[in-house]
Amino acid sequence: MPRKFIVITGSIMSGLGKGMVTSSLAKLLQSRGYSVIPIKFDGYLNVDCGTMNPFRHGEVFVLDDGTEVDLDFGTYERFLNISLQGKCSITGGKLFRLIIEKERRGDYLGRDVQFVPHLTDEIKKWVKEVYDESKADVVAIEVGGTVGDLENGYFLEAIRQLSLEEQVFFIQLTYVPSVSPGEQKTKPTQHATRLLQSLGIQPHMIIAREEEKLKKEAKEKISLYCNVPIENVIDDPYVETLYELPLVFEKQGVYEIIAKYFGLRKEGDLEGWKKLVENIKSATKTSKIAIVGKYTDVKDAYLSVKEALVHAGAWLRIRPEIKWVESTNIEEEGAKKYLYDVDGVIVPGGFGRRGIEGKISAINYARTNKIPYLGLCLGMQLMVVEWARNVVGWKDANSAEFDKETKHPVIDILPEQKQIAKMGGTMRLGAYEMRIEKGTKAWEAYGQEVVYERHRHRYEVNPEFVEELRKSGLVVSGWHKDIVEMVEWSESFGIATQSHPEFKSRLEAPAPLFKLFLKEAGKK
Ligand code: GLN
Repeated sequence: MPRKFIVITGSIMSGLGKGMVTSSLAKLLQSRGYSVIPIKFDGYLNVDCGTMNPFRHGEVFVLDDGTEVDLDFGTYERFLNISLQGKCSITGGKLFRLIIEKERRGDYLGRDVQFVPHLTDEIKKWVKEVYDESKADVVAIEVGGTVGDLENGYFLEAIRQLSLEEQVFFIQLTYVPSVSPGEQKTKPTQHATRLLQSLGIQPHMIIAREEEKLKKEAKEKISLYCNVPIENVIDDPYVETLYELPLVFEKQGVYEIIAKYFGLRKEGDLEGWKKLVENIKSATKTSKIAIVGKYTDVKDAYLSVKEALVHAGAWLRIRPEIKWVESTNIEEEGAKKYLYDVDGVIVPGGFGRRGIEGKISAINYARTNKIPYLGLCLGMQLMVVEWARNVVGWKDANSAEFDKETKHPVIDILPEQKQIAKMGGTMRLGAYEMRIEKGTKAWEAYGQEVVYERHRHRYEVNPEFVEELRKSGLVVSGWHKDIVEMVEWSESFGIATQSHPEFKSRLEAPAPLFKLFLKEAGKK
């Protein structure tokens, strides 16, 4: 039996939502009981995203096994409600490292090492391994970048070869602009598809991002010039919530087309999913949540936090309205100006000194005004700093990340981090066990003693100060061995964790802490 692959390429321009399309297609197959594993190929020469700036690249997502990956992995997991492995992320950096290591070992026996066959063989081997090891029914491969980029050319060649060995369904995502209402232009799609064909790949389906629903003539043109049956030209319209996309594809018979190609069965539906999407769309109650960060201009930098709120909202029937607050603005103008009208405050993860004092002021404002607060990683560390300064009275308290001289480094570097000089992949990364204390809000959220959340940090609550912090009333509600993983206020709702629970939140399984937080915010 040949293995089954769906390959999604993007054309014309970036930002068409290839990750969403890939996730939605996978969801259709999953809803029929098939196991679908996504793979993302990224042509850049970084080994992983860990060293990339969120300003440029958006959020760095972390998997259970600690691999730092592209934010599309967040979309896959949120749609499919599965936890993926680092092996599903194939980057140019990982591939070249592999090839060069092999060459140095002498594995190529005196041959000159080439893109074809050595690199392409490596790619084919890799995707087949993921297929076999994950026991997937179908592997969906998203090719990063756009067709025609130098970076992903060798990957397209590998996939072309793969289609001679296995069963591959090619999908090309394109863009159909309307120069004026009703005037849809298919020429970019035609050219882009010809480019793909010149690489030896004939797409089976064309999905068109569009400004308006494709007219019959536009579909006919795409079908004729791109050499695909007209029913395989699919609309990818604007959707109110991204979780609607599988339903949009479902209506157009996308599953049936793919099922026919692979010989898959037809039973199963998206009813449960549909209900959650309806909940998102029909929620009338809104809660205004401030996210106080420093990358608030690039909303993608906090994508998982935003989505985790949407998930919680779908279950609580609350529409989270996000107010993005730049923490440096709070430093200049005070917290009140930005937070007086919100129902909840989140300080998400972050690195570096800029904006730190603004975040601490935001936490102080939330605590003293009894506004529900959720702190994530850095947001937890700063909750401890705020407490140490304003409740315990250690005015100079800080994290050693921002003040090396302070007498009260209530947040300090993790002992195992002290020796580390390299930047890439060296933080405390991935899922760690967390023990929850009974009778706390954390317990109320999780309802169990042992939970696993994902991490990405170098600093922790300094064990030296834990005793005194607790004595002054700060509740420690979660531990990993002797590392403090969660803290809480007892006077009002405030909870924070060293982990990133947003990375494990899915529409069908919202993160417990976000759910509890939004429920509290909803009471306001
Ligand atoms: N900068 C902090 C640390 O390294 C927090 C990291 C984060 O928020 N992800 O510990």
